[in-house]
Parts: sequence; C-alpha cells; structure tokens
Amino acid sequence: MSVKSVAKDAEEILLATDMIELGARLQVLQAETSLSYDRLARLYREIRGCSPPKGMLPFSVDWFMTWLPNIHSSLFYGVYKFLDTHTPAKKARALIEAYRLYLEQAITDAGNAADGPVLSFTRAWMLVRFFDSGMLQQSRCVTCAGEFVAHAHDPDHDFVCAICRPPPRAGKTRARQSAVCNP
Ligand SMILES: [Zn+2]
Repeated sequence: MSVKSVAKDAEEILLATDMIELGARLQVLQAETSLSYDRLARLYREIRGCSPPKGMLPFSVDWFMTWLPNIHSSLFYGVYKFLDTHTPAKKARALIEAYRLYLEQAITDAGNAADGPVLSFTRAWMLVRFFDSGMLQQSRCVTCAGEFVAHAHDPDHDFVCAICRPPPRAGKTRARQSAVCNP
C-alpha cells in the first residue's frame, strides 16, 4: 500500500475545507479528493457544525434549462471556463474560485441573501460534470451574443436566451430551500 505524502494530504484537506464552506455535499468531496468518508464527514461536522445531509445528488440536466437556473448557471459556467482556461486555477480550484465570484454577484443581485443563491455549489459541480461528459453545450444568443447553457447537439443557429426572451411567468415564483445544513 502506498503512503500518501503529508503535503498532498494537507492540500486535499484544504480543498475539501474550501468546498465545505461553499456548501458542497459529501459526494462532491469524495469525488474530488482521496480522503476517506470518515475523515470527510468529521471535517464537515467541524466546519458546518452539523452532520452532512444524506441522499442523492441532484442529477437532473433539465433543472439547468429552466429560466432562472439557466441564467445563473450560464453566468457561473462562463466564469469557470475562463478561469480554467486562462488562469493557474484548474478544475476543482477553478470551480471554487468561479463559485466565489458567482456568489458575490448572486447575493447582491438576489436582494434577499437569506434565501441563498439559485445555484448551489453542488449544482455548480454537477454542471461542470455534465459539460465534461458532453451532455451540455454553450449556445450563443443571436440577440445579446451571450453564451448560455443548453442541451448538447441542440441546433443553436437561431438561439435566443432566457434573458432576451423570458417566459411569461418569469420572476413570479422562486421556490427556495433555506436551511443552512440543507444546501
Ligand atoms: Zn440574449
């Protein structure tokens, strides 16, 4: 059995700590680090003061296509892609940095910070995984030229985004979970 270096171990704990502080679920931490479940669960309890939530991750690609989530996801993914491509922050580090920048925008924008952001850290992580596995693409809006999250292979020569063409009910409903330990 190979022995992991102390430096590598410390690096993974720091990475997990950053992700927990941003609201990552345990499954995300398990995928991004090689730390054991028990250590991750302990770290989670130390930082959040409660046990990690159980249950499945949100798997739906369709969630990212609904009006408000699509706008937030598109904003986030644009930042992530830029950081991952053009800065030393790659992959999980790019995800963390991009999510911090997204939060700065989303919290001021939401008007009600207590509601929490539309896009949770775990959803942001799922989004990147969906892109990596080729299930999603960025489509350019013919009206505003912004790039938006769309299903892979959807024809996008006349794509119009959710900001330029909002649905009639846009902005009227915003169901939200609020518990700190239930991101
Ligand atoms: Zn547009």
